[in-house]
Amino acid sequence: MSKHTINVDPAEIEKFGALASKWWDPHSEFKPLHAINPLRLGWLLEHTGTSLAGQVGVDVGCGGGILTEALAKQGAQVTGIDLAEASLKVARLHSLESQLSINYQYISAEDYAAQHAGQADFVTCMEMLEHVPNPASVIQACANMVKPGGWVFFSTINRNATAFLQAIVAAEYLLKLVPTGTHFYENLIKPHELARSARQAQLEVMDLRGLGYNPLTQHYSLSTNTNVNYLMATRKVVL
Ligand code: SAH
Repeated sequence: MSKHTINVDPAEIEKFGALASKWWDPHSEFKPLHAINPLRLGWLLEHTGTSLAGQVGVDVGCGGGILTEALAKQGAQVTGIDLAEASLKVARLHSLESQLSINYQYISAEDYAAQHAGQADFVTCMEMLEHVPNPASVIQACANMVKPGGWVFFSTINRNATAFLQAIVAAEYLLKLVPTGTHFYENLIKPHELARSARQAQLEVMDLRGLGYNPLTQHYSLSTNTNVNYLMATRKVVL
């Protein structure tokens, strides 16, 4: 998107950049991402088949690399992209500690897609769309990165009264799972909106799954309830 206004909200980048040193602290603000990581990885593997070995993947909005590293551990050849330089620094350092070879790049999804069109076997874009001004443009970019038949996995938060109460009021104010101001109601995305943008980008929706949190057991699980957090698996059509 270099010729246009870049699709980023600087306040969002600042928010994540300021927390960068915490990415790998499992008790920090990023605790929920650590907690859901095995679930989302397992779900993703259900779709791609058992092994990612040798598969080329792009993790869009990778942050400190929580999912990126898990993908690399599966043998995938992964590139993580983000627009928060501080988070990328943490991600690079941590991948060295983990002895994983991951290519982290400071680049927008749109620019990366323009430079690497149709090269990826799979793309992940998790908990990111609700932080960008134009999510449809990121969805299109993810579609452009992947080969025909390749998978693109999204996760985000639904927009309705239950999501407002659980993802914002409860998670940010009552349970304090994430910092206040992490999510803005108007930026949340309904599954049908994500599905529509996906279809417009030649991505076929293959699966929609809810991700639930039980505050009593502090346990996350996949479910059929997509009212709050949800995951969507899509596949690039073969023309
Ligand atoms: N995907 C990671 C991190 C989610 S947090 C995970 O699920 O573990 C959201 C991430 O999106 C942050 O790292 C933030 O810097 C990034 N982000 C926000 N707006 C972005 C944009 N316009 N382009 C690229 N990354 C962005």
